[in-house]
Amino acid sequence: MQVIKEFSIQPTSVVCPACNSIFATPGLVTMPNVTPDTLIEADLHRVLPDAAIRAALVAMCPACSYTWWITAFRPHLFKPGLVPPTPIIDSPKKFAHAVLTGRQNGAHSLDLALLALNGCWCAREAGQPHERWLELAGGELEKALRDVQWNGNRSYYHYVMGEVCRQSGDFKGAVNQFNLVGPESMLPKELVERQKVQSISGDSKPAALPPHLVELLFCPKMKSQESLVAEE
Ligand SMILES: [Zn+2]
Repeated sequence: MQVIKEFSIQPTSVVCPACNSIFATPGLVTMPNVTPDTLIEADLHRVLPDAAIRAALVAMCPACSYTWWITAFRPHLFKPGLVPPTPIIDSPKKFAHAVLTGRQNGAHSLDLALLALNGCWCAREAGQPHERWLELAGGELEKALRDVQWNGNRSYYHYVMGEVCRQSGDFKGAVNQFNLVGPESMLPKELVERQKVQSISGDSKPAALPPHLVELLFCPKMKSQESLVAEE
């Protein structure tokens, strides 16, 4: 078992949903709870101490290259040492394979956008350039938001799109997106206003959330309905 700052990763045997091959892949077994001091950025992702942790959320079949969230792979009782291992590839590249698998299987743009965003965060955690990932995530998220058939939480994803625009340097686009965020997003009004201000000031840097917003968003007991985005 590999332990990185209270996160632990362990080889686990899984079955490929595409070709039924059994293989071993790293799986995340423990993850410390979020506290107000946990590093969470304004695009609402937790910064992980190592790219290998995020990469363990995705599994890649060594037989057919099918790559997707590990939760789509059924666990198997065989000892991981007795089955073929997953290919050793660079952590962010796993997300590129997952995007490819998604495209080959007609996944929705939102699924592709979320994989691309994780690829972006994983690249940053690996100390690699992340700009192309951001571009890919933005393109897919834009498609998802344009899809009239899609009935996800648009308001929430307009916020995420706002952050993608801001971090890509499209400050006008970011403000337009933040203006589309309403109460259905379940996001604190303070957060949306904060990111709007950062966009207007032309700041594209990733931003850490202050502890009180982390607490409000990620420590549910403390969540107060009053501070959610109010009806305009
Ligand atoms: Zn397979």
